[in-house]
Amino acid sequence: MNTLIYIASASRSGSTILDNLLSNHPDAASIGELRQLSGHLRQGNAGRSWDWRCTCGLSLTDCPIWSATADTFEQNTKLPLRQVNTLTGRTERARLNFALACATPILPRKSRRRLMPYAYKARKLEAAGVHAYRIIDAFREQTNAKTIIDSSKTPEHLYALIAARPETYTLRVIHLIRDGRAVLYSAMNRTAQYGAPFSLGRATAAWCNTNLQVAGLRDLLAPSDWITVRYENLCQQPENTIRQICKAFQIPFDSRMLRLSRAGKHNIGGSPHRFNWSRDTKITLDNRWHTGLKLSHRLSYYAIAGAVHVWLRHLTRLGPQPRKLPNSR
Ligand SMILES: [Zn+2]
Repeated sequence: MNTLIYIASASRSGSTILDNLLSNHPDAASIGELRQLSGHLRQGNAGRSWDWRCTCGLSLTDCPIWSATADTFEQNTKLPLRQVNTLTGRTERARLNFALACATPILPRKSRRRLMPYAYKARKLEAAGVHAYRIIDAFREQTNAKTIIDSSKTPEHLYALIAARPETYTLRVIHLIRDGRAVLYSAMNRTAQYGAPFSLGRATAAWCNTNLQVAGLRDLLAPSDWITVRYENLCQQPENTIRQICKAFQIPFDSRMLRLSRAGKHNIGGSPHRFNWSRDTKITLDNRWHTGLKLSHRLSYYAIAGAVHVWLRHLTRLGPQPRKLPNSR
């Protein structure tokens, strides 16, 4: 049986860090943000901040792992990898998506299990999921890893993986939740850096929507295949958090999972920091929003996301807890 670990989160929630730590396990390899693969192959317009290289520093056509993955995929499926569209997103949401996402906290588990497929264009996503597993198979053949990590983050990609899961795969999900105020502050700085317009309302709603959708999907899997993790806990107590993930998913803990590393990585997408990490890079909690986020921004955030903020905090209390929370608010 092969294992696929999926990291689901809103943008700017630390998924690249978690992906990097987990994939330092000797039996694991990260494919990165698999949903970005077609973008990497076509190198379309994804904004100025995007880096199309594999973490090894080479383009996908020059990277030995990715060129062999493409060859294997094409041999197995008789389909050019370039023609496969991996970029699922908001266009695969059904009309009921928003209503079901909003209803997630109040729906009983059974109803969530029954209703969540109606939040998506299910057939289209299932077809995308079938291709995703064939790509993962081809990548796994090159890396010889038992466990593959896909940090595509989005609920649509997660739904595709759930709907198309072959019997040969165990799918395990980590729902990574970062405080929405920190996400907002980070997104605000990032857009300012590129001189792009920023909508606080839209960014807050996107954080709510992604987290609610992901939480709504958890009942489509067995409870033992799902864990909810706080980004703040991961940064403040990485060992405790990684150990709890290992325990939940029955992976033997390895101390290499506590250091960031670029060595031997052939993943795509994610934060540009992935090119700079070495074993000396410290995992620190970015708390700049505490002083940087204006009162007016905070008030708007609470007005839009207050209830979701409280509910997600409750949800992460059910997940792994650090022994203490020195800087938590
Ligand atoms: Zn590479």
